[in-house]
This record gives sequence, C-alpha cells and structure tokens, in this order.
Amino acid sequence: MARNVGAACRRCRRENMKLFLKGDRCYSDKCSFERRAFAPGQHGQARFKKQSDYAVQLREKQKVKSLYGLLEGQFHLTFLKAERQKGVAGENLLVLLERRLDNAVFRMGFAASRNQARQLVRHSHVLVNGKKVNIPSFLVSEGDVVSIREKSRTNTAVIDSLEIVARRGVPSWIELDKDNFKATVKAQPNRDEITMPIQEHLIVELYSK
Ligand code: SF4
Repeated sequence: MARNVGAACRRCRRENMKLFLKGDRCYSDKCSFERRAFAPGQHGQARFKKQSDYAVQLREKQKVKSLYGLLEGQFHLTFLKAERQKGVAGENLLVLLERRLDNAVFRMGFAASRNQARQLVRHSHVLVNGKKVNIPSFLVSEGDVVSIREKSRTNTAVIDSLEIVARRGVPSWIELDKDNFKATVKAQPNRDEITMPIQEHLIVELYSK
C-alpha cells in the first residue's frame, strides 16, 4: 500500500501544529515543532500575506490527511463514502477515519503512533474478533474486540506503548483491557472526542468546488 513517507516533523511544521506522528518523541523535548515552530524551507520564517479561501481549505485537508497518514486517493474515497451517509458529511468523514483499524489500534494504546499501528496491522499482529485482519483501512464497528496476537504480546513496541497510554488517554468509545492485550469498541467514535483542532467543513467546501 502506498503511503506518505515525507519527513513527519516537516508536516507538523507545515501545518503549524503538532500532529503527533512520531510516537514518544512527540511528547519529549526532542519534538522538532517545539524547537522550530515555523514552516520548513527557505521562507519558512517569512510572514505571509492573507491566504485565499482555497489555500485555507487545502491546508485543512492536507492536515487531516497527514494526521491519519492517508494519501489523496484513499482520503477522497473516504470522503465520498462519508458524503453518501446520512448526517453531516464532515463529521461522517472524521468518524470513518477514526474507525479505521490502524487508528483504532493507535487509540487503544497498542502503538505509539498511527504509523506504528499500521505496521502492526500489516504485519498481522492484530486480531479482530479473534481473526487476523491485516488491512489498515478495515472499519471497526460497535462490539468488535481488537487484540494483539498471542505470539506478538512480547513485542516491545506494544508493551512500551501500553505503558504510556495513560498519558495520551483512551477515548470513551474504547474499553481497554491492558492486561489481556485487547480492547472493545463500545460505541461509534464520537466527534467531540477528537480534540485536534479540525475544521472539517473546510474539507467539505474544498471537495464541493
Ligand atoms: Fe510532529 Fe511529533 Fe515531529 Fe513533534 S516529534 S514535530 S509532534 S511528528
């Protein structure tokens, strides 16, 4: 599967906010954004004139794509799916992104970042309702039980992530059973619990042009 391999920290600086793409490092004083909170490149520190509406909408979309680690094709397909659902397209989009298995594994605390979570899924370390699922875009549903395969429970990345999960917090739609390396999806993800500053209506406006 194609993925964005550009330098993660540059993406945070480009979007002018911490996207938490590098796990533990993001919470330490090694975070590049903490050290250099300006856009990358030669003119990164220059003051820019007011951005057009299009530029603002585009940046919002790029930010959310970077946050969830998706490329344009996948992201657009998710948007089209969100648009076909009942309700507000922007909120539907965020809920669909939250329901992705790689995101759920990250939110459950089995991985320190979404990238690491995707690796765990792709390398078949993750089970859903007892069955191997190695598709990061698989959507979890209410009642699903996501667990780490028995043989992978000694994986230091998983153990280290679970140790620091309290710092990040587990959303209320997930019930984590740390000792047994499993978590249950108690409900549909809730828009209100996505605390990153996202203005999803800008993405809807952009795609509606
Ligand atoms: Fe972003 Fe994390 Fe890099 Fe900081 S360490 S700039 S939060 S990816």
